[in-house]
Amino acid sequence: MQFKDIIGQEKLKRQLIETVDNGRISHAQLFLGKGVNGKFALAVSYAQYINCPHKTADDSCGVCLSCKKYQALSHPDLFFSFPVNKGKKGGAEDDDGEERTKDSGISKTASTKDLISTMFNKEWLAYLNETGYYPYLQDWYSRISMDNQQGIINVEEARRIVKDLSFRPSEAHYKVLIIWHPDKMNPSAANLLLKFFEEPPARTLIIMVADEKELLLNTIQSRFQLIPVPKIDSGSLRRHLRSMFPAISTQQIENAVILADGDVHMALSVLMEGEQIKDHFLMFQSWMRMCYKAKSLEEIKDFVEKVSKIGRENQKEFLQYGLRLIHQSLNMNYGHATLTRLTIYEKDWLSKFSPFIHINNSLTIIEKLEKTIFEIGRNASAAIIFMKLSLDLSLLLKIPK
Ligand SMILES: [Zn+2]
Repeated sequence: MQFKDIIGQEKLKRQLIETVDNGRISHAQLFLGKGVNGKFALAVSYAQYINCPHKTADDSCGVCLSCKKYQALSHPDLFFSFPVNKGKKGGAEDDDGEERTKDSGISKTASTKDLISTMFNKEWLAYLNETGYYPYLQDWYSRISMDNQQGIINVEEARRIVKDLSFRPSEAHYKVLIIWHPDKMNPSAANLLLKFFEEPPARTLIIMVADEKELLLNTIQSRFQLIPVPKIDSGSLRRHLRSMFPAISTQQIENAVILADGDVHMALSVLMEGEQIKDHFLMFQSWMRMCYKAKSLEEIKDFVEKVSKIGRENQKEFLQYGLRLIHQSLNMNYGHATLTRLTIYEKDWLSKFSPFIHINNSLTIIEKLEKTIFEIGRNASAAIIFMKLSLDLSLLLKIPK
């Protein structure tokens, strides 16, 4: 991956190149930014640039042996770590001969604690190539598991990392480890790694790529140099979508640019899976109506039953979507028109719904939704927490303005 293949982010590319030019490459860096904004692709291009012996003033050469191996993701001094789950198929071929069932690829006795990311190497490389190095967690989970199970970076994985990084680089100037979603590390993995990162081997660069600072341990935050990665600017995103989809109307592209707010995965979802967003919309709309009217517990039970079936990651996406509409309602009500990003059907409905979201209830509603997203992430019972949330919302929506 070369810098030239990255969507926008021109200023950050320059800053990263300067760290190399000035010999100020920090050995532990945290690429931080919300959504699929290219932070992962930037980490890979940066590593390729650092190790290219024929780099130019603004990019790696793309043709030397190091660049070629980087581009094939086969460089012996490039390592990845990422969350995995039990999976439907564990990429067993490259593993250590542990007994495995033929169809699942995973050992009959394997539990989550035995899983390490290299078992999924084949899927991972294919997935990165498909997304152009713009990975998205839920997509990754659905790629490797039947029902979007949550993933983890466990202590076995941490031990694997320590082992892999303990040797000197075999070819490159710098050995590079890119950890995607360090927020999925469990505490024992984090403790082991932090101890190791305190005195990393010479010529080793560790880049963590994360969405939210709050989800990371303080010890990680303090030991890693923070590299904020902003959202992709509208102009670059628009040009990218236009070149990918030359036949799509300007209006559709514009709609995707507005809704995506600098997140390329979101933009592609809007274009390619516009229907799913619409599903969320229709479900949220009927849920809010039901909560407001809430004539019977039966109605709520129907909804809870429906939402319980869509899987945890979808539930979280649905609630995130709901949160967005609540925030947009506030923008509508309190005059931040420029902050309002909505499709035509959302705008139409929110013009009626937004008066129900106001200063006396909005904060509590937002807190409840966020808390539910958190609880779903912690594997709480979806039926119970959606039931509780629906009852809470039904009271909150009736609070007078
Ligand atoms: Zn090169």
